[in-house]
Amino acid sequence: MRTGLATDLAQLVADPARVLSAPAIVEKLSRDFYWYSPILRRQLEGKAGEVVVQPVDQAELIAVMRYGFAHEVPVTARGAGTGNYGQCIPLEGGIVLDLALMDKLEQITADGVAVCQPGLRLATLEMEARKIGWELRMYPSTLAKASVGGFLGGGSGGIGSVAHGALRDFDTVRAFEVITMEDEPRVVLHEGKAVHEILHAWGTNGVLSRIWFALTPAVEWTQFTAAFDTYEQAFRFTQSIAVDAGWNKRLATVFEWPIPSYFSPIKEVVREGKSLALLMIATAQTDALRKEAESAGGEVTFCGKYDGPRTHPLLSDYTWNHTTLWAMKADPALTYLQCGFSPTECERQFHLLRERYGDEILFHIEFMKNGEGVVIPGAIPVVRFTTEERLNGMIAYCRSIDVFVANPHVNTVEDGGRFRADNIQLRAKYKYDPKGLLNPGKMASFQRETAAK
Ligand code: FAD
Repeated sequence: MRTGLATDLAQLVADPARVLSAPAIVEKLSRDFYWYSPILRRQLEGKAGEVVVQPVDQAELIAVMRYGFAHEVPVTARGAGTGNYGQCIPLEGGIVLDLALMDKLEQITADGVAVCQPGLRLATLEMEARKIGWELRMYPSTLAKASVGGFLGGGSGGIGSVAHGALRDFDTVRAFEVITMEDEPRVVLHEGKAVHEILHAWGTNGVLSRIWFALTPAVEWTQFTAAFDTYEQAFRFTQSIAVDAGWNKRLATVFEWPIPSYFSPIKEVVREGKSLALLMIATAQTDALRKEAESAGGEVTFCGKYDGPRTHPLLSDYTWNHTTLWAMKADPALTYLQCGFSPTECERQFHLLRERYGDEILFHIEFMKNGEGVVIPGAIPVVRFTTEERLNGMIAYCRSIDVFVANPHVNTVEDGGRFRADNIQLRAKYKYDPKGLLNPGKMASFQRETAAK
């Protein structure tokens, strides 16, 4: 550790106990779920910060950033550390800025906008919002732990995206305050389109300290599963529900067999050898959905009320990137990709992939609305890993048949597939972090020499 770092930081926060330097704790709080990727697992093993500091308010946050700038110490923001790509793993040591204690929900406005600190857990926000008739528009399957700031910094969408699109769409992120990494850190309000300068930039160009996050009116939801003999049947049924605006849904997921066999805690909803459709549907439409599933050849295997994040069983725990977790638990040689299939050509694309890769790729579809309002088959396929070359070959093949891939096996904002072609995130980095101290190494196109000119 840099000499005097922990002692200096202890003077910047009201309670020195909020500066943590025990190596095992620092290592733990420097990690995320990077090990999902066999490639990142190798690449990031052993990387960690030097010390963790846990500010409780904006003044402490600014004091730490001012110190980092003056002493040229890297600062890496951390929400709950549930990211998948080593997003919050410090590559050059320095300070881990753990924002878990900045977790206040200030208010939910009359028109349904949550105003909060970045460390607020999404599950807490969902529960508080539902008490007064609102709910999250979308959330990752990690909602129990994940923070609002971490979701904006590194996430993309999830449960709810079938109706409300990704985090970057439809003004869901209304505004936020960003703390800059400068001689005298500034608090800069970003509103409307300006949020895209910072959104999904992995904390490389500013630290979010206060967020305005739009909600949607709460719905009484039912969790629903149906098993189908074939993947095609399950896919077509789910797609018909997902694309039809007449169905009020929060989740529309398809798992090709044998993916459902990995879900050991919910064996009762799974049927041997069958693909599974999993939906969250407005309770008022449950009977109609049951009829629809049965007439499509499905067997309804579960139908139960959603009562908030503490519902048991919580079926969203098996969707989005939780599916990969269950797959890896069952077979550690499995990993994943993040894809977008064509809404019209997807069956041809599935066929081509099957022909070339057989069961090396298993289809896991998450329907989601894109920025133009079209519901598309997003996907987090489960993939058998053999070599890096083979995995990269599969990614290249997907792209050659017009399947979009956001590569989850890379550790930079640019390569992850969500970097903005208009370079506004990079420009914001030059503006707000001229010394390149925020989560260094993750925005690869940033050049310290260019910034110094
Ligand atoms: P962290 O992992 O702590 O941070 C994420 C990034 O944001 C890091 O780069 C960090 O530096 C930065 N950051 C954190 N706080 C701030 C801040 N205040 N200001 C600026 N930058 C900040 N993601 C999805 O989008 N959808 C899913 O459905 C989904 N499912 C998942 C399932 C599993 C099992 C796992 C392991 C991950 C999944 N993820 C998913 C990824 C991850 O859970 C989400 O992106 C989550 O929202 C991250 O929140 P966090 O608080 O853990 O962020």
